[in-house]
Amino acid sequence: MIREVDTMLITKAVKELCIKATHELSPDMAKALHEAREKETKPLAKEILEQLEENLRIAKRERIPICQDTGMAVLFVEVGQDVHFVGENVGEAIQKGVRAGYEEGYLRKSVVADPLLRENTGDNTPAIIHYELVPGDKVHITFTAKGFGSENMSRICMLKPADGEEGVMEQIVETVRLAGPNACPPLVIGVGLGGDFELAAKMAKHALTLPVTERAAKPHIRRIEEETLRRINALQIGPAGLSGDTTAFALHIETYPTHIAGMPLAVNICCHVNRHESVWI
Ligand code: SF4
Repeated sequence: MIREVDTMLITKAVKELCIKATHELSPDMAKALHEAREKETKPLAKEILEQLEENLRIAKRERIPICQDTGMAVLFVEVGQDVHFVGENVGEAIQKGVRAGYEEGYLRKSVVADPLLRENTGDNTPAIIHYELVPGDKVHITFTAKGFGSENMSRICMLKPADGEEGVMEQIVETVRLAGPNACPPLVIGVGLGGDFELAAKMAKHALTLPVTERAAKPHIRRIEEETLRRINALQIGPAGLSGDTTAFALHIETYPTHIAGMPLAVNICCHVNRHESVWI
């Protein structure tokens, strides 16, 4: 059965996602921050984590953004193949929602129209939209507000198959080491392993939207996640880069089959303000 979805619903939902995600960190991220503070053994790091928690409380209470960098809007849109959109073009409906969300939420407009000419578009559009067709008659939208302090420290590399698990872990840890304080730690690390050049990067970005406590289903990938996270925290970069036990809260790896000759690896870093919200329509 085909289900009709009015694109006005899409616009409204996206607008609300923009405002909610930038004002309130998801409960799993807030919990991770709290638990890190409880466990932290370095006094200065503990104090910084306390300040970050206080910042969250103030943002929620006063309805102000968690961070001044309210990000570039990146959306993952899963469309049930039994959905028929009525109204306008669904892409335009999403951009309208972002425009309205950033306007009504008093969020910083951070997008320039041309990478070299650098003129601000004035409304934080265009957003980056990834579509996927899925079974069913629903639409699932995940919105992320990606800050570029951490985006700028992300990397993609084309490893050789012989690099193996150790090569994967070394590249991820080295990416975090090079990021140092610039990515606003504590971090969440999204990793895309396999596929091709662009799919690895897309998986890495999507991995940032997973619940903090989620672990990979495959045992060998789960082992790499845990060991890499352990090595990252052993770097002692710490909150705000001022040393401490908490350099990263979580590390998620998404994988996809790849070519016999290669092993693409993308590492997308997100700061402690890992903002994402989802809705079903
Ligand atoms: S990287 Fe994150 S915490 Fe740092 S300025 Fe950007 S959004 Fe804010």
